[in-house]
Amino acid sequence: MPKYEVYLCTMSKNFGHYVSAFCDTSQRKIFLRGNLSKKSIVQSLAHEMVHAKLWRIRNETHGKLFLKELRRIRKLGAPLSPYDVDIAEGYEPPALNKRNLKSAIRDALYEERLPKRAIPKYLEREFSEPIQIIGQRYDIRKMVEEI
Ligand SMILES: [Zn+2]
Repeated sequence: MPKYEVYLCTMSKNFGHYVSAFCDTSQRKIFLRGNLSKKSIVQSLAHEMVHAKLWRIRNETHGKLFLKELRRIRKLGAPLSPYDVDIAEGYEPPALNKRNLKSAIRDALYEERLPKRAIPKYLEREFSEPIQIIGQRYDIRKMVEEI
């Protein structure tokens, strides 16, 4: 991901009524409205960073790849706005089966480079099921060791 400058704007009249932030990919700058709560600023920054990451992909504003990335960072615990959480959750979780579980564990360990202790939380988010339910059907610890 390219380096971006982030501006917290106290003079926010250029933002329009409903826009809390925007990402200028040609200048590599992210502008955040300074008169929001700290929480909203962080949530807006997370959203704009997704735009920054996907800047090379044409016509990808809030499309499939955007949703995929929102969902990926949500699994990692990124602070998303309730609106972005809704969008991310609208994305169907994969079926809970051994093959998908192994693939998710592999992603957690090798793509996201999460420690083993973070895997239950990751699987909960990935499959939208409490880990107790997943653990009743599958021996997660054993699966982690087998990978
Ligand atoms: Zn956006």
